[in-house]
Amino acid sequence: MDPTDATVVAVRDVGAHAVALSVETPAGFDARPGQFVKLSLVIGGEPESRFYTVSSPDAEDTFEVTLTYDAGADEEALGPRLAALDPGDTVAVTGPFGDAYYEGEPRTLVLAGGPGIGPAVGIAERTLADGGEAAVVYRTAAVTPGADDGDPPIHEERLGALAAAGAPVAVVDSDDALAAAVREVAGDGDRRAFVYGFEGFVEAAREALDAGGIDPATAKVESFGPDPE
Ligand SMILES: Cc1cc2nc3c(=O)[nH]c(=O)nc-3n(C[C@H](O)[C@H](O)[C@H](O)COP(=O)(O)OP(=O)(O)OC[C@H]3O[C@@H](n4cnc5c(N)ncnc54)[C@H](O)[C@@H]3O)c2cc1C
Repeated sequence: MDPTDATVVAVRDVGAHAVALSVETPAGFDARPGQFVKLSLVIGGEPESRFYTVSSPDAEDTFEVTLTYDAGADEEALGPRLAALDPGDTVAVTGPFGDAYYEGEPRTLVLAGGPGIGPAVGIAERTLADGGEAAVVYRTAAVTPGADDGDPPIHEERLGALAAAGAPVAVVDSDDALAAAVREVAGDGDRRAFVYGFEGFVEAAREALDAGGIDPATAKVESFGPDPE
């Protein structure tokens, strides 16, 4: 699969060290919330690439990814470079990839850690738009250098809109609070669970699903890789 150059449409701050990057959808590209893409920029003469997960409810004309970044990272880090892009700039897109994505499930429950809140809001919005029921459990801050537990949640506005539309949203600031939050928002348990975040969170989320009465083996899980140091 070859990369396609795509035009950046918007870069919006959506939290502490967090941006939502909207990009024109390349021809023939069809991605669902929860799938991921490879984004590449040329840094120091070499292409530098990272994976990011689709955080928009669809990818019709544009699609969005949400990323957190270490503002103090060295020059080779891609996150701060992506966050500094302007509308009209170009980024190379490859994908989409992955099999842990929304496929029209009527009742969804998304557990998100850190930047995993991107696919969580995308899936929840799409579920509601399709006439279904969505719920979100979000473990804040945690892994983002420079962010702390007192920061407002990433995508606070979209989370507020989801709650106003009747979707239960629980925001917690520790792994220990996850299981209770799952029990609180899951209702009768007849929901398809999704998990997005770095490895440490994914492990905690599996345990929380188990403790909350949902078999973690039935969940669609995408790990973002080892926890940032
Ligand atoms: C399948 C998959 C999906 C992914 N989806 C997303 C996504 O939707 N959003 C997202 O943000 N990331 C996502 N990631 C992680 C992403 O690909 C990068 O690994 C991560 O953003 C770090 O890239 P970097 O170039 O900024 O930092 P690196 O060059 O890897 O590291 C530089 C510095 O940044 C720090 N750092 C690393 N990761 C983060 C982070 N997330 N936030 C703040 N600081 C960090 C490191 O500790 C280090 O100090 C995904 C990864 C995979 C494998």
